[in-house]
Amino acid sequence: MLLKHFHGGLTLAGHKGESTGRGLQACAMPPVLHVCLLQHAGTPARACVAVGDAVAAGQRIGIAEGEVSADVHSPCAGRVLAVAPRPLARFPGLEADHVTLETSAAPAAHRLPAMDWQASEPAALLERLRAAGLVGLGGAGFPTAGKLAVARDLLVLNGAECEPWIACDDALLREHADDVVRGGRLLARMVGAGRVLLAIEDAMTEALAAARAAAQSQGDGAVEVVAVPTIYPQGGERQLIQVLTGQEVPRGGLPRDIGVIVQNVATARAAWLAVTQGEALVSRVVTVTGPGVAQPGNFVVPIGTSVAHVVAQAGGYTDAAARLLLGGPMMGQALPHDDFPLGKQDNCVLVLSADQVVDREPEMPCIRCGDCASACPSQLLPQQLLWQARAGNLERAQDQGVFDCIECGCCDLVCPSHIALTQQFRSTKLAIRLRAADTGIALAARERHEHRQQRLERESAERAQRHEARRAGSAPADAVAAALERARARQSPGHDPDPST
Ligand code: SF4
Ligand code: SF4
Repeated sequence: MLLKHFHGGLTLAGHKGESTGRGLQACAMPPVLHVCLLQHAGTPARACVAVGDAVAAGQRIGIAEGEVSADVHSPCAGRVLAVAPRPLARFPGLEADHVTLETSAAPAAHRLPAMDWQASEPAALLERLRAAGLVGLGGAGFPTAGKLAVARDLLVLNGAECEPWIACDDALLREHADDVVRGGRLLARMVGAGRVLLAIEDAMTEALAAARAAAQSQGDGAVEVVAVPTIYPQGGERQLIQVLTGQEVPRGGLPRDIGVIVQNVATARAAWLAVTQGEALVSRVVTVTGPGVAQPGNFVVPIGTSVAHVVAQAGGYTDAAARLLLGGPMMGQALPHDDFPLGKQDNCVLVLSADQVVDREPEMPCIRCGDCASACPSQLLPQQLLWQARAGNLERAQDQGVFDCIECGCCDLVCPSHIALTQQFRSTKLAIRLRAADTGIALAARERHEHRQQRLERESAERAQRHEARRAGSAPADAVAAALERARARQSPGHDPDPST
């Protein structure tokens, strides 16, 4: 297959091998889980259990609120200790409700009935993915059922992991490529896709071999395995589509605009298990790696397990441990401590050593070298975006494509003036979203005010009618009717009161 290139990107030193040697390992169930009700793009789920309730493994504990939301399930049998807000690791300073569970050794499990994926209607399959709480496991966390609701021509299974240390998809493919291929066929059936491409980075040789064998034996040739170059950020949705098809997703648009859908390989497997085995999404593979952990590995982690617990599963911290990241070195979030629970979107815990932590050098003025634009995989002009963002020109920043910035960090890495471009774009996007939310709040407040005014006027008119009717109480019926008519006339628009009446 002839591959195309995406603009920009960087070749980074690979580190997947540090964690893949031990295969997939089961993470022991911790005594307590903190299951977040916001593990997806969109609105938080609403808790449907209360303190003291006993729950079964796989039981729903959070109900999706609105279109872009997802159900949340208990990864264990146990008891609800609390339903309360806790800080979010991904969004410093923000909180969301978590269901805290005391885990028990009881094997009670709640499963949905298995379905025949080939005989079931796509609508029923969609409903199953919704009921299983499926979200994209590549990191974005968009509810899967919502993404699958529109027909597509091409399904891309994304096994091209973006960042150098993250190896959860590599590890998953090595052991469960059969399920990924089956899941791909299931998803393709749901969206009516005539073609399925399973894209894997060429450096992931074992995963590639496993996928090719699975495509041969499980896919009946329906799934094509494609080795793509190991260039960061190859796993970006738009970049991968461009490499595979030569087509560009239009600025401000979505892959569905060109008839494509991209799903992470772990999502495909989770969909397969949800449909054919009735399993809700209650665990995921997490890479725990870096020179700061004793035995790096890839663990199947119950959702809600703390970072501290998974690091302990990997042998604990080494003396070299200096910085804790949730995610990879390019797009990860630095954590101030390890008491955060892992959710459906969390694919990696990385512990760097002191020599890998480079303090940012003092920022210098932009010299307009254009290196950032050359490296940008979204074909943006970061130096111009920076200018608009710093000047507070939010509309212009939006016009110039700030929402197409995937926050990959390539521009930061190449900037000779050490300008924190990515952070600026992240803040700009947040400012635009907050302003849109404020506008929405202001509109809603005005609407409420207008409704109140209308109600007060209506009640005032009714009082006037009653008053007129009482005054005319002893008058004949036609006199009462005339009084009411005069009252109504006074309420009507354009009424010109005549003092003579
Ligand atoms: S790389 Fe840095 S110095 Fe060069 S144009 Fe971009 S922002 Fe300016
Ligand atoms: S962070 Fe945004 S602007 Fe910078 S290179 Fe990546 S996509 Fe382009």
